[in-house]
Amino acid sequence: MNHFDLVICGAGPVGCTIAERAANQQGWKVLIIEKRNHIAGNCYDCYHKSGVMIHRYGPHYFRTNNKEIFEYLSKFTDWIPGDYFVKSYSRGELFNFPINLETLEKFYNLKLSVKEAKELIENVREKIEFPQNSEEYVLSKVGRELYEAFYLGYTLKQWERHPKDLDASVCGRIPVRFNKDSRYSDYKYQVTPSQGFTAMFQKMIEHPNISVMLQTDYKQIKPFVKPRIATVYTGPIDEYFDYKLGKLPWRSLDFEFKEYYQEYKQPCVQINYPNDFDYTRTVEIKHVTKQKCWNTVISYEYSKSSGDPYYPVPAPENAALYKKYEELAMLEQSINRVFFVGRLAAYRYYNTDQVIEAALKTFNQIQNLNPQN
Ligand code: FAD
Ligand code: UDP
Repeated sequence: MNHFDLVICGAGPVGCTIAERAANQQGWKVLIIEKRNHIAGNCYDCYHKSGVMIHRYGPHYFRTNNKEIFEYLSKFTDWIPGDYFVKSYSRGELFNFPINLETLEKFYNLKLSVKEAKELIENVREKIEFPQNSEEYVLSKVGRELYEAFYLGYTLKQWERHPKDLDASVCGRIPVRFNKDSRYSDYKYQVTPSQGFTAMFQKMIEHPNISVMLQTDYKQIKPFVKPRIATVYTGPIDEYFDYKLGKLPWRSLDFEFKEYYQEYKQPCVQINYPNDFDYTRTVEIKHVTKQKCWNTVISYEYSKSSGDPYYPVPAPENAALYKKYEELAMLEQSINRVFFVGRLAAYRYYNTDQVIEAALKTFNQIQNLNPQN
């Protein structure tokens, strides 16, 4: 156990990236400890018993503006275009979502030029110069009627919180457009790994210097492993410190996967349900993976407050508690060389490209350390 240079808790995107760099760039021996029975963290994809590929922990749409991250990952996978199209079911109909020109035309039952659409929204939006929360953000962009039709119910279901009690950045993830572009996001690169995320991360860590222990809780073996260089921790930060400052709130999800005996069940990969049903969204990932098969699987997503941590809850009081944990983490880093990186360890609503960027930055810090006795 003590002949490793680096010990990494968590085989998610961060764990795999740092392991890959450490082994290939430094020739270090790396041990990854993962409590689940698979690698790839929440990006994990696999085959459902029906033979259809699924995204086990929710749909993962890889997108980035960062050319370096795209090029770095391209060493481990080929890509196919990311066909990320989403609709929202409101008032008994499907609308393009994010809101775009076609959404506005259908919602207001009007034929609109871009100029007319902009004028319409200028009339209905609330003039809030510096939105302080998600409600103010959306009201300032599109006004109350569209907010209530597309955002309010979805946000309440997803977070069990009012949009007023969430940072503006939460609903700020969703663009509003006045053209007919109906992609889910605006990023420059929108691609998906041709063989899936798990295959991409597997390729990253295929190296004789990298060992992976699955189904092992880091906590249980922590007293027995002393890496020569450093430890990277990618689990929840409050858990690492035994919740001694209190629990950070996390949102979790239940996924129900149902097979259908038809080639496709819905018109696009994701349908959001802001106002109907208990689930928040249905996902037919086949639209993205482009798998050729006669049957399909829909994932129904239900949000809940307990269970595996999937989402940090971006709100001022949680940021304040996280800051206190961050201070402990900084001490832990300087005394015991434990580095806290990733969505759970940094309590940040990070996308995959962002955690990979953070992982590469952390690796640059770690690689300058000398072995400790
Ligand atoms: P994780 O992927 O969470 O991996 C951490 C790993 O550490 C896990 O495997 C966990 O089991 C393990 N671990 C934790 N504690 C311990 C312990 N004590 N011992 C051993 N192992 C431990 N990103 C996008 O870019 N596009 C998307 O469309 C997108 N959609 C998402 C949808 C959902 C529902 C969710 C939840 C996330 C989504 N993301 C998306 C975000 C993406 O999943 C994360 O940014 C990314 O997985 C974070 O990587 P990570 O390595 O920090 O953490
Ligand atoms: N959101 C909403 N209506 C939607 C989709 C999103 O109100 O139809 C809000 C909601 O608060 C959600 C946030 O925007 O949590 C971010 O949405 P995104 O699709 O980026 O969430 P993720 O894919 O990370 O679950």
